[in-house]
Amino acid sequence: MGKPKEKVIINGKRLDGRLPNQLREVEMKVGVISRANGSAMVSFGNTRVIAAVHGPRALFPKHLQEVETSILRCRYSMAPFSVDERKYPGPDRRSIELSKVMRLALEPAIFLEEFPRATVDVYVYVLQADGSTRVTGLNAASLALADAGVPMRDLVVACSVGKIDGTLVLDLSGKEDNNSEADVAFAMLPSKKKITLLQMDGLLTEDELKELLKMAREACKNIYELQKKALREKYIR
Ligand code: ADP
Repeated sequence: MGKPKEKVIINGKRLDGRLPNQLREVEMKVGVISRANGSAMVSFGNTRVIAAVHGPRALFPKHLQEVETSILRCRYSMAPFSVDERKYPGPDRRSIELSKVMRLALEPAIFLEEFPRATVDVYVYVLQADGSTRVTGLNAASLALADAGVPMRDLVVACSVGKIDGTLVLDLSGKEDNNSEADVAFAMLPSKKKITLLQMDGLLTEDELKELLKMAREACKNIYELQKKALREKYIR
């Protein structure tokens, strides 16, 4: 058994005063790393992530090349200073898993077949972790890919939803995640209405899951608008 859960909704309010279906303050900036082909910084409250893209470029060693398509490589890492106690800087099981699920969530958005034998490399660095880092990372990665000019079917838009103290909520903070009955990571291509990431931890009824997916879709509409605004802002700077 894990640690006993702390209360994270008190008198109907979340610890940071948010309503159940309210996002934290969102900040997005495109083109933050001049040496990468594309980059973006995204914050959801205290969770802050930078994504940078290299490519499409020729893939070496050659035996890794695919004749009919490029490949997407994705690396998720947490900075040692991103969490309360120093995080070991190398890859661990969690970052290997998150790198894979992020790649799978991004792949359907990209016209990889346009660049045979090439690679597109996406690096996601969590600078500060306070819950929902994989979805924040996906929003940043999709902006960085667009900034790099990688041809895409659509942006990937992501958010987390879950159940805390019996209440269905949007955008879990770290403390909420640690004390949740369930949490769900969700990503989609809005214009295609295609879900590209759906992971769930914990227990939910079928109706609760349906309600959470509705909440996530609605939130993604707003996040999508913020992403497009961030992309436009780069070009009027
Ligand atoms: P996500 O960040 O996508 O929600 P998890 O559910 O695995 O992924 O993690 C939830 C939260 O737990 C993270 O956002 C972070 O705040 C915290 N966390 C994850 N790994 C560590 C770690 N090694 N040390 C301290 N906190 C961590």
